[in-house]
Amino acid sequence: MHFTGTVYRNPYWATFPLLQITEGCTHNKCKFCTMYKDVDFRMQPMEWIEDDLREIAEIAPDAKTIQLLSANPLALSFDKLSPILEMINKYLPKMEYIYTAGRVDDLKNKTAEQLKVLKELGMREISLGVESGDDWTLERINKGYRSEDILEQCHKLEDAGINYWMTFLNGVAGREHSIDHAVNSAKIFSQCKPMLVGTGGLTLFPSTPLLEEAKRGEFSPLSEKEMLIELKTFVENLDCDCSFITHHTISGKNLTGPDFLKRKDSIIASLDDEIKHGDMDRMAAVRNRKRTL
Ligand code: SF4
Repeated sequence: MHFTGTVYRNPYWATFPLLQITEGCTHNKCKFCTMYKDVDFRMQPMEWIEDDLREIAEIAPDAKTIQLLSANPLALSFDKLSPILEMINKYLPKMEYIYTAGRVDDLKNKTAEQLKVLKELGMREISLGVESGDDWTLERINKGYRSEDILEQCHKLEDAGINYWMTFLNGVAGREHSIDHAVNSAKIFSQCKPMLVGTGGLTLFPSTPLLEEAKRGEFSPLSEKEMLIELKTFVENLDCDCSFITHHTISGKNLTGPDFLKRKDSIIASLDDEIKHGDMDRMAAVRNRKRTL
């Protein structure tokens, strides 16, 4: 298999088989991210992709799912993506469900009609690293798109019938803008129809612009308790009929699962309890052990 550069796979999706079709991130400018700093974006050569599919077909000829890597294969144009999906179906004829990750603006170069074709070719589920729906925050972290883009592109996925995830990055707006980030993100997410909303807490990694800003006093990171308060505000304002997962370093509470709206009150109660009684030192220690997003 031709796995090159930094490879990220979504741990919630089947982790076999994996097929790398791109390397690096087209944007590579988010202020909190170190993942692809030394990797230029490129598409893997078609010969490599075909070699890898041949190899997968020998081991798992009946594979029904596959995860495309890495970091935002969705950035490829329709003309580049569709032959890859056709090739997947040729080598793995029982394929039903192709997963991929991407940025919101990766969808701009595809029409809803083209997305429908990609769905027919098996692209069923996309994870969008949205991070925020608040325009101040999106600009502050150099995300490269605005809230109106989120709405426009997510509605295109809905028109095409492709399921998608939206992620909220807890803490990324800093202290002064925390509540606006939570409320405005929830407002934008609630105007979309994600199958899943996921939340993760910001960790300031070495060599990131955001850490340098924090050192200069230009960015005020949230404490663990403030992270929980922001997360609770986001949840209180979120109105999506979806599944919900959180990567927050929280002590064993059952916050993750389907039917967010049915569980919303109990999630809020758990967060309240954690805010009052949680072991913030332990949460900080878990966060400090993280080495990458
Ligand atoms: S967070 Fe995602 S979009 Fe931003 S630079 Fe990192 S990999 Fe690229």
